[in-house]
Amino acid sequence: MGSDGKGASSSSVAIGIDLGTTYSCVAVWRHDRVEIIANDQGNRITPSYVAFTDTHRMIGDAAKNQIAANPTNTVFDSKRLIGRKFSDPHVQNDIKLWPFQVTTNDDDIPRIVVEHKCEKKSFTAEEISSMILVKMREIAEQFLGTQVKDAVITVPAYFNDSQRQATKDAGRIAGLNVLSILNEPSAAAIAYGLDTNHVHGNRTIFVFDFGGGTLDLTLLTIDKKGNITVKIHGGDTHLGGEDFDAAMVEFFATEFQRKKKIDDLRDNKRAICRLKVACERAKRILSSTTDASIELDSLHKGHDFYTSITRAKFEEISKNLFARCMELVHKFFADANQKKSSVDEVVLVGGSTRILKLEQLLKEFFDGKDLCKKCINADEAVAYGAAIHAAKLSGAADKKIQDLKLWEVTPLSLGVQIEGDLMQVTIPRNTRVPTKKKYVFTTTIDYQKNLCFPIYEGERLMARDNNLLGSFVLEIPPTRRREKPRINVCFEIDSNGILHVSAEEKATGSIKKVSVESNKGRLSREEVERMVKDAEKYKAEDKEHKKKAEARNNVANLAYSMRNFVEHEGIGSEISAQDKERINNAVDYALKWLDESDSATLDEINEKGKYLSSVFNSVNLKLNRGGSHGSSSSSKSHKIDVDTAASVISVLCSLLELFLQ
Ligand code: AMP
Repeated sequence: MGSDGKGASSSSVAIGIDLGTTYSCVAVWRHDRVEIIANDQGNRITPSYVAFTDTHRMIGDAAKNQIAANPTNTVFDSKRLIGRKFSDPHVQNDIKLWPFQVTTNDDDIPRIVVEHKCEKKSFTAEEISSMILVKMREIAEQFLGTQVKDAVITVPAYFNDSQRQATKDAGRIAGLNVLSILNEPSAAAIAYGLDTNHVHGNRTIFVFDFGGGTLDLTLLTIDKKGNITVKIHGGDTHLGGEDFDAAMVEFFATEFQRKKKIDDLRDNKRAICRLKVACERAKRILSSTTDASIELDSLHKGHDFYTSITRAKFEEISKNLFARCMELVHKFFADANQKKSSVDEVVLVGGSTRILKLEQLLKEFFDGKDLCKKCINADEAVAYGAAIHAAKLSGAADKKIQDLKLWEVTPLSLGVQIEGDLMQVTIPRNTRVPTKKKYVFTTTIDYQKNLCFPIYEGERLMARDNNLLGSFVLEIPPTRRREKPRINVCFEIDSNGILHVSAEEKATGSIKKVSVESNKGRLSREEVERMVKDAEKYKAEDKEHKKKAEARNNVANLAYSMRNFVEHEGIGSEISAQDKERINNAVDYALKWLDESDSATLDEINEKGKYLSSVFNSVNLKLNRGGSHGSSSSSKSHKIDVDTAASVISVLCSLLELFLQ
């Protein structure tokens, strides 16, 4: 599968990460098979959410679960921002829908502004994505019991160079060695291709990958030898399940206003967040039943919102989105000059392919053909394929995997701006990668001192309508008339889909090589380095927070166990009233202190544990001396439930041990 990024590090456990718009998934190749790794909540997919509070940072389920209470500091959709400029019209549209704030400096890089630990902080999309990557890496490390450094990260096939570079930067900020940036549909194809039951000779596969934020369309072939050859990519990086959620939110916000006749709910960020969560849930329910209800107490200005939606209504309000999806499919086959009848298998990938209407429309488009949605899990296929790719690149896989070969193509044309603001295409889209193309350029005026090469990607005729990747200037000796110098320029796209450009001016015998400068809108090397350091700082803070949370929990547990102990029907009667009062006072004091000391240090928390232990210990010793501790009291006339007493004492003893060292 090509010669990808840096080689695997010595630890050699390499993971595959599907860094999704709404959910992410991590997998590893182990014991001759792929294992999808569940997170600490037992979920095989993790929300791509990061939340900031006065005391700490949360990533994944914890962040998503608290969004309604903390909408402005809960960040999601970083994939919709990554590698894009603030001025990008897509970004401007999205900003209107997000509850968190996005601004920019004069570099046109979008920055997400949140309040963290009572201070205003701004983060780039690369940083937010890196936090999600750190979480996915930790999930894998917990599962494997070893450190993980190497990873394959997936991106939509339609991601441009800036979006790929930015995703790679996110990996670096997360401290990962990114072995490869892999296209999501190709990852799904690898997952599909590995299942040899499906390889019955050369087969043409159409992958319809519809996730939270992107629609990727890919046509590829798989042959018996394990060659997966991508023919054509298409789709839209800004169309996904979230657009369906947004359409439903809009519909219900209008209904709410019509019914309640109060101020617009859209200005209430908390209400919009709660409605969005409810709409996404309703959308999922409608994939299996014909209606779904929404019940939100005190949604806005004290008004409850109880309503429902039928599948038919959902399909009606989403009809423009369905139309956009199908237009893209029609255009894809037309541009590819390919007959839909040439497709042997239609593979559905991504959570949004569960929307029944889409399935019906696709089935109609393919003249009633059965769609393959059961052979691979739509949510996990991408991470599954990424794990296989990672195992192959790190050399950890067996022959069956080593034999799989992936041949990719470029999703967008690449070119140079020439006179008249025209785009001269140097590498047309859907060219197989890695690829190298050489061109000879010359000067347009006499004694020209330098040549400027603005590099664009996209399909429009005018360069300005395409995406400017960057530019470089080549100094040349100003000694020759126009059109005399010969400058060889080499454009190279590596197997990650990332561009490298170099130029040589040979006339004077000297060879000068240059590379594309990072364009406005991309992070500089220094910024990435700074973010790497920040990420380590945040990781240390998270660790500290986790330790504190565990210590607080231990102290609270000890306090409640002590209270259970003295209130226990049998044991309690063995303790003097005075001791009971001492224990109860200590417990009340510790619980109140925990409640009021959010910013306490780890030492202060542990001190409180020690204090509780010492209070209990003196009483406990007296009990022991009196010879009536624990189950021995069961022989007395008191009705002690021996098992309960034993468990109260055992919990208590293990908690005491924590603080008595
Ligand atoms: P992915 O990026 O592949 O994890 O897809 C996430 C998107 O799939 C989100 O927009 C989800 O709301 C959507 N999704 C997940 N399950 C379903 C379902 N059962 N019906 C409709 N959409 C779903």
